[in-house]
Amino acid sequence: GGASALILRTEGLTVRFGGLTALNRVNFDLQRGEIRAIIGPNGAGKSTFFNCLTGVLRPSTGRFLFNGEDITGLPPNWISQKGIARSYQITNIFPNATAIENVRIAAQSRRHGWSLLTHHRAYRDIIEKAEAVLEAVGLRGKGDEMAANLSHGEQRNLEIGIALATEPQLLCLDEPTAGMSAAETRDTMALVRRIAKNLTILIVEHDMRVVMELAQRITVFHYGEILAEGTPEEIQRNPRVLEVYLKT
Ligand code: ADP
Ligand code: MG
Repeated sequence: GGASALILRTEGLTVRFGGLTALNRVNFDLQRGEIRAIIGPNGAGKSTFFNCLTGVLRPSTGRFLFNGEDITGLPPNWISQKGIARSYQITNIFPNATAIENVRIAAQSRRHGWSLLTHHRAYRDIIEKAEAVLEAVGLRGKGDEMAANLSHGEQRNLEIGIALATEPQLLCLDEPTAGMSAAETRDTMALVRRIAKNLTILIVEHDMRVVMELAQRITVFHYGEILAEGTPEEIQRNPRVLEVYLKT
């Protein structure tokens, strides 16, 4: 049921690419309202994990439950309708549309699914929603700019806005501060904290200051498996984590 504390559970989630096991029987629990960071070396399976949760990839074996419902292998648009959204490690926006159009398209897909035959909610409501989302991600006043003309940091925040416009319960952010200046990173951290008041956040992040400051709990992936899990304090002094990750 929707009121349960457990929003996400994966059971034995496994992804193989030919001979390579990118995720190996991952059992992962996430509580509603948490900010959880996922860390681990390059190639550990972090993006693959997000790809499974958002329907981009179908796991080889295993399943995951969202609000207690098995939605493994549903296509991305259905998973979006269920309430999981994500941003990509590499920015994924429509560059030749304006900022507001990028958000509006996402808001509309949430309300109506993908069918043009479904009843149309008033255009005005969608625009209002899109404007509220732009404001929430710090892009107020930039709605009419082409997405391609926004700064790198603004584009990354626009992508968070696109995800937010689908009204998710769970937002998966894949390296949201990658390539950002120190000031942009601080802004994005503040943004994540603000939006975390209303939803659950899974964040893959390499910047350890960001991770330690934002996350309530951290899960460490290593070679497709969970190496450790705990509070930032526990992870920082976990010898196995230090060995594989923090020292490098
Ligand atoms: P991370 O995000 O932790 O850096 P990834 O999930 O991107 O790691 O990748 C995990 C492993 O799976 C890596 O060895 C990567 O090369 C491999 N991999 C990821 N996606 C694919 C794919 N579509 N086809 C083949 N191998 C892949
Ligand atoms: Mg990745």
